[in-house]
Amino acid sequence: MTQENVKVLIIGSGPAGYTAAIYASRAGLNPVLYTGGEPGGQLTTTNDVENFPGYPDGVNGPQMMTDLQKQAERFETDVRFGMVTSVDFSGYPHKVIVDEKHEITAEAVIISTGASAKYLGLDSEKRLLNVGVSACAVCDGFFYRGKEVAVVGGGDTAAEEATYLANICPKVYLLVRRDEMRASKIMQQRVLNTPNIEVLWNTSTDEVLGKDEVEGMRVVDTVTGEKRDIPISGFFVAIGHQPNTGIFKDYLEMDEAGYLIVEPGTSKTKVEGVFVTGDAADRVYRQAVTAAGTGCMGALDAERFLAAKEFESVEQ
Ligand code: NAP
Repeated sequence: MTQENVKVLIIGSGPAGYTAAIYASRAGLNPVLYTGGEPGGQLTTTNDVENFPGYPDGVNGPQMMTDLQKQAERFETDVRFGMVTSVDFSGYPHKVIVDEKHEITAEAVIISTGASAKYLGLDSEKRLLNVGVSACAVCDGFFYRGKEVAVVGGGDTAAEEATYLANICPKVYLLVRRDEMRASKIMQQRVLNTPNIEVLWNTSTDEVLGKDEVEGMRVVDTVTGEKRDIPISGFFVAIGHQPNTGIFKDYLEMDEAGYLIVEPGTSKTKVEGVFVTGDAADRVYRQAVTAAGTGCMGALDAERFLAAKEFESVEQ
């Protein structure tokens, strides 16, 4: 195992991680940032971001993340591709293992690991993942252009994915398990005004059908229990997200859904020198702009923590 000491380690490369990096690097803390398995985070799976302040015409998600990376690197953040596989926060400095082969000791750790898409948990869904089953229409929709597809979910993500797919597919089924959608009114209206989206209300998925690729789905009417098969080529799951916090469970407090708990109004955890930013600690807002805001808080909290530590060591 290789070994290295760093002052500030940032885990994750979404808006929270890169904003923390911009602030920490401008403060002269020489941060090292590990991107994780999905460099750029969830926004790389989004097309147009229309609600990030400062972009009157919207901005393309992957482009925005490339820009954030460049901005962090401009101030000499060391951005590295790699996955943090375990941590040890029992002593100080903190230990973090990357890709099971590189040990880092860090004076401050900023966790910005975000959240990942949830799946339904069906065996057929798992078996057909990436051969017709996907959790990202913007990433994979292109492969199903001209074909009939389905989206599962009733939130903003599902509404967004369905309208996106409706531009490239002749027919999109939207499977909503209740008789109403959770999505915002404006997104619901977009769905209902798109002629080639058919909303299947009170409908859940029994199976994704197909041997080597998706050929259809067996859906169930949740009111009558009636089942039917519908031919489709793409099955997009858009039912929410799970925070990526499993590796911290032995050291940090989390709620029942796995969101990390911070001292209110700060990014501080109960462990000295460990800070959390972005969706990993946010089950309520989960927006790019709130993630970026807490990324800034993480860097400022880390900076103050390190300054206080340095002061203590000079005093002794
Ligand atoms: P969400 O709001 O949690 O919605 C999840 C949806 O999936 C709900 O309709 C839920 O149904 C359904 N669902 C959950 N488990 C299911 C299952 N096993 N089978 C079938 N359906 C299931 O998640 P989200 O849509 O990903 O949105 C997350 C946050 O991001 C929200 O705050 C949202 O506003 C925001 N967002 C904003 C935008 C935008 O503004 N452009 C775009 C995307 C997301 P129930 O309603 O029955 O629970």
